Amino acid sequence: MNNFLSDRINKLSTSQTLAMAALARELKNQGKDIISLSLGEPDFNTPDFIKEAAKKAIDENYSTYTPVEGYAELKEAICRKFKRDNNLDYKPSNIVVSTGAKQSLYNIAQVMINEGDEVILPAPYWVSYYEIIKMSGGIPVEVPTSVESDFKITPAQLEAAITPKTKMIWYSSPCNPSGSVYSREELTALAKVLEKYPNIFIVSDEIYEHINFSGTFCSVASIPGMFDRTITVNGVAKAFAMTGWRIGYIGAPEFIAKACTKMQGQVTSGANSIAQRATIAAVDADPSVLNGMVSAFKGRRDLVVGLIKEIPGLKLNTPEGAFYVFPDVSSYFGKTLRGTTINNADDFSMYLLGEANVATVTGDAFGNPNCIRISYATSEEILTEAIRRIKEVLA
Ligand code: PMP
Ligand code: GLU
Repeated sequence: MNNFLSDRINKLSTSQTLAMAALARELKNQGKDIISLSLGEPDFNTPDFIKEAAKKAIDENYSTYTPVEGYAELKEAICRKFKRDNNLDYKPSNIVVSTGAKQSLYNIAQVMINEGDEVILPAPYWVSYYEIIKMSGGIPVEVPTSVESDFKITPAQLEAAITPKTKMIWYSSPCNPSGSVYSREELTALAKVLEKYPNIFIVSDEIYEHINFSGTFCSVASIPGMFDRTITVNGVAKAFAMTGWRIGYIGAPEFIAKACTKMQGQVTSGANSIAQRATIAAVDADPSVLNGMVSAFKGRRDLVVGLIKEIPGLKLNTPEGAFYVFPDVSSYFGKTLRGTTINNADDFSMYLLGEANVATVTGDAFGNPNCIRISYATSEEILTEAIRRIKEVLA
């Protein structure tokens, strides 16, 4: 039946994170004892003060269409957040609220990228960047990194990837999937390269900003010269455990914000009204309300890194943020375990699913064929059991 579908959709790959999560769910429903470490989703509940704001919004009848770019009160609250946390002076006219950061990214691609434009992606990159860029006619240009470089690119690598067709660079810090966090010094060195190429725009995906154990966080837009060429993407899904509420936002030069508004005016008419009112409470809250959750994630990070380091043949860095580890599993390639030959990260991940009942995501989905991604957004007990099983089936 695929010949009835558009070429556009036939060429699109399925999101590997969502596909693995769906497969794990299906196997669980069949009665298998699956531990899913595939999806990047906090296992905490949305804080009560945010739920209260949503209930109040329902009672106060926030039930009509909102302004396409988001409620004025929400945009003002987002500006306060950008000032408080990132020292960025956005005005409400720079803000667009969307149905998740994923839609923010999709809007940006659609309004910025022309057929054949190149977009630099430091790899590993978040799974959906690649397909979102392709959907807009852009050409993703991957810049590889490895566990040895803490999965970060160098200024020389950035410069070597730039061509006359380069339109943008997209990255996340803390990074999904590697958990790496770029310091102000590292970003300043990369920005220095970009100074020579004033027409290249930056997408800085800061959705894991608060899930950060490094003690420092830098928004690239706060580096001199970068503000007018950066689109800062953020959202409430990760920090406030609100993945299902579907609210993301951007701070961007006004002409880009206007274009994104025009785009979503034809596609969604704007984000959900109740979730927007709840988001006002979230972004206005002092980030210290997140301390409990962040220290739980840090404890799990330490646990998982410690346990994985005990497994022979797995190499990993110590990720400073997000809730993923991204071990290099390539020393297993070419080996046969329990009758299964493992040729690549896909095989490795499927082997763990089949033999250990543990769902992970292949690094191929993120542009790194040597690694797999493990999400540690679950309890220490479950994580300990999952890694025990992984160790057992690799022995
Ligand atoms: N960027 C990154 C790096 C992510 O991991 C995610 C995962 N959800 C998103 C964007 C999309 O976030 P949202 O749920 O707000 O669409
Ligand atoms: N961002 C999360 C992840 O990478 C959620 C899934 C998705 O949106 O793709 O697993």
